[in-house]
Amino acid sequence: MVRGRGSWLWDSAGRRYLDFVQGWAVNCLGHSHPALTQALTQQAGELLTPSPAYHNAQALRLATRLAQLTGLAQVFFASSGAEANEGAIKLARKWGRLHRGGAWKIITLHKGYHGRTLATMSATGKPGWGSMFAPQVPGFVKAQLNDLASVEALIDADTVALMLELVQGEAGVHGATPEFAQGLRQLCDRHGLLLIVDEVQTGIGRLGTLFGCQRYGISPDIMTLGKGLGGGVPLTALLASASASCFDYGEQGGTFCGNPFTAAAGNAVLDVVAQAEFLAEVRARSAQLQAGLRALQQRHQLAEVRAFGLLQALELGPGRNATALAAAALERGLLLNAPNPGCLRLMPALNVRSEEIEQMLEMLDALLAEPCAQTPARCALSA
Ligand SMILES: *Cc1c(COP(=O)(O)O)cnc(C)c1O
Repeated sequence: MVRGRGSWLWDSAGRRYLDFVQGWAVNCLGHSHPALTQALTQQAGELLTPSPAYHNAQALRLATRLAQLTGLAQVFFASSGAEANEGAIKLARKWGRLHRGGAWKIITLHKGYHGRTLATMSATGKPGWGSMFAPQVPGFVKAQLNDLASVEALIDADTVALMLELVQGEAGVHGATPEFAQGLRQLCDRHGLLLIVDEVQTGIGRLGTLFGCQRYGISPDIMTLGKGLGGGVPLTALLASASASCFDYGEQGGTFCGNPFTAAAGNAVLDVVAQAEFLAEVRARSAQLQAGLRALQQRHQLAEVRAFGLLQALELGPGRNATALAAAALERGLLLNAPNPGCLRLMPALNVRSEEIEQMLEMLDALLAEPCAQTPARCALSA
C-alpha cells in the first residue's frame, strides 16, 4: 500500500481499495485526515521527543482532556495497547499489595484479547495461547462472558481485579450485556476489587459513544485506550481513578511514553471525535451498516449480525468461509477482516460516508453470491 485518503487505499500498482479494516480499527478519521496531517506536520517541525523526563504541552493537554472526559484522575501514555494493559496489570498488583493484603490475581474472560506481551497473552483468553510460550505469567483465571456466576465463583482472597473488553473485538465482536457489565461493577464494589476495562478497541467513538463504558453506563477504576486514540500513530493510554493511582514515580515508564509527536495526534483526534455531532453521525452510520448487513443476512441466509457502533460482525453460518471471502474481497478491491473462518468483522473509519457503506454492501452482496464465499476449495482466488 502506498497512499490512503479517507476510506480508500491505493497500492503500488495503482489499484484502489475500499477500506473496512482501517489498520484494525486504528484510523478512526480514515487515512490522511487533514486535521491529523496538519497537527503532525506542525509538531514534527517543533519537537518530537524531549524524553519522558520532562513535561511537554501536548501530553499535558491530552492527559487533562482525557481525565475530564473519562472522570478518571490520572493518565499515563504508552505506545501499544499491550503496553498500556501491562501497566494496568502492574498497577492492580501494586494496589493489591497496598490495599488488599497482597492480592494479585486477575479474573479475565475466555475469548478476551489483551495483547501480545507475556502477561497480556496470559490475560488473553484465545484458545491455545496459554501454552504457546509456556510457562504463562501466573495470576490470571478465566470466566465466561455474560455469566456473572462464573465470575463470582472465581473470586477469592487473592483476587485483586476483573479485566475485560466490553465488546470482544478480536474474538469476533461479542458484546457484554448491560446487566453483565453493571453486575461486574457491583461485584467489584461488593468484594473490594478493581474493575479494569480494556477499551483499546472500543474507546474513542468506536461504539458510538466516546468510550464504551458510557454506552454501558459503568465507571471503571482503570481504563486502557489505544488503536483509535492516535488516529494512525502509536499512542495508547492507561487511566486510573484517584484511589487506584498508586504508582510511585519511576515504577512505570518507557522511552517513547508521552512524546509530544504522538500526543499531538491524540489531541487532533479528540478535537474531532469528542464532538457530540460527530458521535451522532457515527451512530447514524452504525444503524445504516447494521440495516444493510441484516438485509444481506436475509437474502443470503446468513447466521447472525452483531453490531456495536461501527464495530460489527457478520456471522456467515454453515457452508461458507469468511477467510476465503476476505481473500476474494481483496482481489475485488474491498478490505475486510475475518477474525476467524466463521465471521467477517467490519471496522470502518468513524467518518465513513453513507455512499461508501452502500458501495461496500453492494460488493459484499456480489461476493456472497459467488462460490468463493461458499466453498473455499472451489475458490481459485483463495488458493
Ligand atoms: C488491539 C488490542 C490490544 C493490543 O493492542 P496493541 O497495540 O496491538 O498492543 C489490546 N486489547 C484490545 C482489546 C485490542 O483490541
